[in-house]
This record gives sequence, structure tokens and C-alpha cells, in this order.
Amino acid sequence: MAQVYNWQLGREMSYPYEERHPQWQFAFVFNTNRCIACQTCTMACKSTWTFSRGQESMWWNNVETKPYGGYPRHWDAKLLAMLEAVNPGGQSWNASTKEPATQPYGVFDGKTIFEAADKRIGPEGPQRVVGYLPSEADWAAPNVHEDSATGGKWKPGQFNGSTQLPEHRVWFFYLARICNHCTYPGCLGACPRQAIYKRPEDGIVLIDQSRCRGYRKCVEGCPYKKVMYRGNTHTSEKCVGCYPRIEGSDPELCPDGAPIETRCMSVCVGKIRLQGLVKIDEDGKWAADATNPLYYLIRERQVALPLYPQFGTEPNGYYIPPRWVPRGYLYQMFGPGVDHAIEQYSCPDRELLAVLQLFRAQRQILFRFEIEKGPKVAEVPVRLPSGEEQVQELFNDTVIGFNKFGKEVVRVTIDEPVKERPRERHANSI
Ligand code: SF4
Ligand code: SF4
Repeated sequence: MAQVYNWQLGREMSYPYEERHPQWQFAFVFNTNRCIACQTCTMACKSTWTFSRGQESMWWNNVETKPYGGYPRHWDAKLLAMLEAVNPGGQSWNASTKEPATQPYGVFDGKTIFEAADKRIGPEGPQRVVGYLPSEADWAAPNVHEDSATGGKWKPGQFNGSTQLPEHRVWFFYLARICNHCTYPGCLGACPRQAIYKRPEDGIVLIDQSRCRGYRKCVEGCPYKKVMYRGNTHTSEKCVGCYPRIEGSDPELCPDGAPIETRCMSVCVGKIRLQGLVKIDEDGKWAADATNPLYYLIRERQVALPLYPQFGTEPNGYYIPPRWVPRGYLYQMFGPGVDHAIEQYSCPDRELLAVLQLFRAQRQILFRFEIEKGPKVAEVPVRLPSGEEQVQELFNDTVIGFNKFGKEVVRVTIDEPVKERPRERHANSI
């Protein structure tokens, strides 16, 4: 196996192929604090890409209720248990050696799905990637355990302890998921046919249907279980990142060639989603650009974190963690950056608050933002999850978003303007 650098782990790791990087990388931030599980995203994807025969159980976008829900059922708990069995007690982080550019969350001391593979000998010998094939029953019902809460007496280290916010005694949260278009995809690493590739222009991971023979090694190797097998074509399929929209090549939607967000992102009712493209340097590092909204949230402020970074695929989906959930649960899901992320999100400063207004403000992909300062309009008392009280100063700043061509496409103020409709033209019918 080759050695590649994984910045989310803060170290090199082994991977079946040499390091190679796209010029831009498809990435997104989901704010779990705002998702209402309306499933509009799920249906937008389903009605665009997976409505045909043989795709009945295929949900490229799904929204599951944590901690019990999952599609396929218990996908994350099963893989975490497999990794723990290979490396008992060793799946830990050393968060004391942080460095913003190369190891922002510290160093992961445990074993990734690639590093643990030689310890798992299957019928065909050692695996390339630790994984498993879900059963048909696991795929059959995507919403089992929807809205199932948990709670009880808090014991440190126990995931089902009471909630972090004093107002609530039980907790659950919604986790929206799509393919993470990983930097080191498990699906790609596991495919014996080399049918999976990462596009050099935007990092979207695709399956070449003419090369796929339906061995399902990718289904086994994707730790997020975002590749699905289609029985009537005998091939695997996965999220295609709505690539015509990302390319700006959809003649109806992008007449001027400006990239627009995927279907699931642009319909999001809860405004939890912000999608974009980040520039990647030749050596694989993210090109520093604190005016790109995604770079700002993920790298500059570290308010959004990767999902299960310890799997080792360097996923490009990032989550603002839910404030009310016991920290033990969140640490195993998002790594050691959780406290820092929640602290900032619970009482955002003026700049961060402005950037958070860009979520779902415009369907064109925003490559740059600017903030125009406005007057102070309020002081609001805020209680942090730690119980500490703070006063948040609110300013009516304006955040402006620009598309790929540097054209202004959106302008949002912090203080939402009130528009009164003229009484004579809009009679109240009640
Ligand atoms: S559309 Fe948005 S708010 Fe609704 S379930 Fe999907 S991610 Fe959550
Ligand atoms: S999430 Fe899974 S399917 Fe998507 S790129 Fe990563 S390993 Fe492949």
C-alpha cells in the first residue's frame, strides 16, 4: 500500500493507491442543529436519480435519527465494532498536538479501515479495506427508529446519558447523509476492477458503469454505506454529485455556466445545507482562502467537522454538531474538535453569524463572501451548553455572496427586514 497524507487524522496513512488530487473539491457543510427531518432532500434526490425499476431501496440521500436510526441499519455501529475488534482500546486521538494547516484536530492514534485491513482475513485472503456487506433487510427500511429518543442518568463516557442542555432530559438528532466524495474513497480502494474514479476537475467520485461487474466490493468498502447494488442491472450505483449542476453545464438552470448546488442542497427546507467547491493545491492541501464560505467554516473557524474522520477516507462532508447531545457520543462521531465547534456555534461572533446566513440563501455555488458592517441592533443573553451565561451583541451586518465569475448573487442582512403588505391589496380572508 502507498503512504498518503490525511490532514483530518494529522498524519500519513496507508491507502491502496498513490496520492493524487483534484483541482477543486466538492464539499458541503450540514448544520445538524437545524435539520427537521422533513425529507425534502431525500425526495428531491429520489425523484431525480433513483426512481427506476431496481432502485426501489436506493436512497442516495437519507436522513436518519441518531443514536438508533441508520440506513442501512446500524451501519456505523457495526463498522466501529469491527475496528475496535481489530484494535481493542486503541482507537483514540492525541488532541494535544494541534496545528491548523496539517493537523487541526490533533493526531489519530488508532487504525483506519485501510490500516486494519490486513488483520481481517476473509475467504479470499486479507481484505484491502475493512468493511461488511449489509443484508437485504438492512437496506429495506430507511427510517426505522425515526424520532426515537434516549436519555437516562448521565455517566461520563456513556452515550445514552442525559442531554447536554439543561432544558431537555432526553435527546436524539437528525443526521442527513449523502456520499462524502472522499479524498481517499473506501469504495475506490476496494474495487478490484478499477471501475471507480475521482474526477480531476471537482473531486466527485463516480462509478464507470461499463467497467463495473457488480462484485459489490465497493458496497463492502464504503464505510458510510453510500454505494448501493442494483439487482436488475447487476452493477453498483452511487450519488453522482448532480455533476451537470456542479459543472454549470445544465442549459436550463445555468445559462451563463455558473455552477449551482445539487438537488438535495437547493431544496433544503431547514436551510441546514451549504455546498461549495474548495481549491486544492498540487500537494493536496486546501488552498488558504478565508473568503470562501466553506474554507472559512471548516478550516478557518473549525465550526464544521468531518463525519467519523477515524475511518480514514478524508470525507468532504462536514457537520456543525448538535448542541444538546452528550459529548461522549459526539466525540466518537466527529472527533476531538467537538467542544471548540459547539462553543463557537452557541454564541457566534459577528463574522461567523454573518457567514451562517449564507446557508440556502442562493442556489448558485458561492465561491467568495464579503461582509458590510452595520449598526448594533441588540444585546441578547445566551446560555452556553456549559451553563455559562454570555451576552451576544448583534449587528445588522450584510453578507454578500459571489458566484464563480465574481458576480454578486446574494445579499442577506442579519436583521431580517419586515415587509408590511398594503391592506387594500391583500385583504385578510379570515
Ligand atoms: S431538506 Fe434539509 S431540513 Fe429537510 S430533512 Fe433534508 S437536510 Fe433536513
Ligand atoms: S462516502 Fe463512500 S461511496 Fe462516497 S466516496 Fe466515500 S467511500 Fe466512496
